[in-house]
This record gives sequence, C-alpha cells and structure tokens, in this order.
Amino acid sequence: MARGGGTRDTSKLLMERSVPGRVGAVLPESDVPPQAMPDDPLLRRDLQLPEVSEPEVVQYFTALSQLNFSIDTHFYPLGSCTMKYNPKINDEAAFQPGFAAIHPLQPGEQSQGALEMLHRLQGYLGEITGLPGVSLSTLAGAHGEFAGMLMMRAYHHARGDTARLKVAIPDSAHGTNPASAAMAGFEVVTVASDDQGNVDLEALHDLAGPDLAGIMITLPSTLGLFDTGILDVCRIVHEAGGLVYGDGANMNALLGRVKLGALGFDVIHLNLHKTFSTPHGGGGPGAGPVCVSEELASYLPSPVVARNGGGAEYSLSTPANSIGKMSSFHGNFGVLVRAYTYIRTLGKEGIESISANAVLNANYLMESLRDKYLIPYDRTCMHEVVFSADWQRARGVSGLEIAKRLLDYGFHAPTMYFPLIVHEALMVEPTESETKETLDAFIQAMRDIDREADEDPDLVRNAPHTTPVSRLDEARAARHPDLRWQRP
Ligand SMILES: *Cc1c(COP(=O)(O)O)cnc(C)c1O
Repeated sequence: MARGGGTRDTSKLLMERSVPGRVGAVLPESDVPPQAMPDDPLLRRDLQLPEVSEPEVVQYFTALSQLNFSIDTHFYPLGSCTMKYNPKINDEAAFQPGFAAIHPLQPGEQSQGALEMLHRLQGYLGEITGLPGVSLSTLAGAHGEFAGMLMMRAYHHARGDTARLKVAIPDSAHGTNPASAAMAGFEVVTVASDDQGNVDLEALHDLAGPDLAGIMITLPSTLGLFDTGILDVCRIVHEAGGLVYGDGANMNALLGRVKLGALGFDVIHLNLHKTFSTPHGGGGPGAGPVCVSEELASYLPSPVVARNGGGAEYSLSTPANSIGKMSSFHGNFGVLVRAYTYIRTLGKEGIESISANAVLNANYLMESLRDKYLIPYDRTCMHEVVFSADWQRARGVSGLEIAKRLLDYGFHAPTMYFPLIVHEALMVEPTESETKETLDAFIQAMRDIDREADEDPDLVRNAPHTTPVSRLDEARAARHPDLRWQRP
C-alpha cells in the first residue's frame, strides 16, 4: 500500500494542502463576450476550492486510486463474481472512434458497422449457449433475470396458462434470483439441495404441478458444483408444463464445453462483466444479455439486431411478442464491444481453454488446502471451490476474520458467507488468468493463516493490520457516506 510521506500521503485531503495563490491550471484567454452574472442568491461567494499545483492533484488522486484492491494490482478470488483479467485490447477496441463516438440515434445506414458487430455478438452468444434467440439490451445479471422472468410469464399467458404463479428456486441460489422472480409477480418456492449439493429431485417432483411456471437454476450451482441431475431437473419441470431458467452469470466452467440449450434450458442470462472479461466492480457498467430457445425468441426484449436482405443490411427490430424495452437504446454498447473483442481474440480454442484452466485452477486450490480447510461438499469442483472455516471457528477464528487477514497478505478476500447453506463459507474463484505462482502464494497465505489461528489468534481476529483503514462499519459507510470536504 502506497502510504509514503509528502504529497503521496493520502491522509491529508486536497483541501488541507491548499496554499493561497498556488495554481494548477492555466485558463486560455476568453474568446467570448463577458456576460452578466446571475442574481446574487444564486452565487456562492465563499467557494472552498483547493489551491494546489497540477502534480499535487495527479499524485493525490493516483495515490487514492491505489488504496483499493483491483484486478490489475492484486489476486482477486471473489467467488461467484468472477473477477478475471480484462485484456487491454478490449478497451482499445471500445475506444475506436467508430464505436466510441457513435450516437444511438444515428440513422441505421450510418451505423451498419456497429449493428453488424452487435449481430455477430448475438450469434456468438447464441452458439456458445445453444440458445439462438439473443437480446443484448439488459444491463446486468439481475436485469437479465428480470427480463427472463417477464418472458416466462408472457409465454404462459400467451397460452392462456395464467394459473402458473410459482417459481422454484434452489436453496443455494444467488439472492438476485428470488428477487427477480418476485418482482415479476411470481411466488418463490425454495427447493432443497441434497447431501451432494444437487437439487433434491424428490422435492422438485413434489412441487411440479399445474401452478409451476418454472425453475430458476444456476449451473454450475453456487456451490461450484455441476448438478449431475440437471437433465432430470429439466425433464421434471418440462413434464409439468414449466420452463427452465438458467442463471448463467458464471459460465467460466462451461464455456466451449456444455451448451445450456442442449441440456434443456429455455431461457438464460449471461454476465458479460464476469465471464466475458469486461471490467466490473463498484457498480460500474455491465451487460446481462438474455438467450432463449427458438420457441421463446418472439418474447425477447426490444431491440434485437436483425439481418435483412437488400439495402441497409442490419437493422434494429422488435420481436413479435416482445416484453418491451428493458433499457434505453441498445444496452451498454461499450461493454458489448469489449465482449465481442474478447470472443474474437480467443476464438473457439481459446474459449475452450478458459473453462479448462478455470476448473483446473479451482481444483488445484481445493486439493492443496483440503488438509487445512473443511470442504463441505467434497466433489470435483467447477470454476470455484467453497470451503468452510468451521475448523478455524472451532479455534476461535471466523471466516470473516480469515478473509480480513488475507488483505494483509496482499490478496483480495474471497466471497464470504455465501452460499447461505454452507456454514462459515469461503468461496474462492481463482479464474483462468492467474499463474501457478500466484495460486501457490495464495495457498501459502491460507496455510499461514490457519497456523496463526493456533499460534496467535488475535493477529487474525484484529486483521487487517496493513491497510489504510482497518475494520469499517460497512452499513454506516453505505448509509452515511462522507463524500464532501467541509470546513472543520
Ligand atoms: C453476479 C451474479 C448475479 C447478478 O449479477 P449482477 O450483474 O450483479 O446483477 C446473479 N447470479 C449469480 C450466480 C451471480 O454470480
């Protein structure tokens, strides 16, 4: 952590560095006529602005930016959130003036290149998932889920099947799943997992009836496991007249290997800002395209890009039974360019090697730590491995404290306390883009922390020790953020 002295010391706010008369900007001579000022009540006479030099401003904000963990500075094994390396060529492509400076209201004949890119991306995602109907307009995973649930509802309604009000959701599901189903007007029914972490087929059977709209299921599950009963899950739901929704936020284990459409899924969403490398974090822009079977393609959100014969080859179109618009214009275009570039750079073989390496890395972590950390569902894992800190807890050190201690070792913490069905869960997702050396260093840190739990538990309990601030009141920070300098 850069916490040196002088101007790079971020403990001193910019305002506190102000020296009267110091100037950091040179304004050009005005080339417009002077204007009268507005009325006095609108003017602030006492404007607190720091008087600092340009290098001070640059150093201050650069140092601030480096206080955070990021994927470009640290290993970031945040399970379920897939923080993988974002190749810089993706940004370069998105910054091309033809993409970056285009206006969404520009006439179609002037934006054929951009529309062609979107059309190809729809095709690639349809091919990867085995679900050929694709709309790119949804802006996040949860947004895609909501669109998927609205499509499920519209599909049943169009068939006069209005009594289907229930959506089954496994107890390991991401919290957005029940929220999206409820927002679309469904009643959520929880399905238990069996002792292998698969959906309990008997429990599902009992639920499957004429009031079941469908199931929302994540594959691999949020336990990082491939549900070996998935074909039966799809069959049971279909036989009851329901649809299968797949939460495809985490496709890192399946890319190039398993097509969800072929397994029986009807609707899914993808998180381009996880699996397809575009940056995320801090609530930044994302994209959660929805992919559906032929049968559901007419319900997709508007617009989709269609390819026509003749004149303007590509155009935006609205599917016949569309659930309508889910966002302004065409979605987060810059994110879509990045995902397109990622897929094109990798090609078919590269896409396959993502899943190979992601799964290998997660299993390497699992095998290297199994003597020190409890593995509650002990099976070959997919792209992530879920440990439990129960063995450490028994010695007085919690999963949260282990996660905090990892910060001292220079690693971002893994996801904690999710999935909810694992006690003291630590969910680790190494992704495919880390080296063996990094994984080994992480393994060593986890082993060291386990030893510290015996030898010096307070060291772990009071962590982190090396970060600019230690334990935060996260709820207070979120509810009462302190964003503005005020005169002391
Ligand atoms: C991240 C994630 C989501 C939600 O995605 P957002 O883009 O954050 O809305 C949904 N399901 C799973 C399994 C996820 O990991």
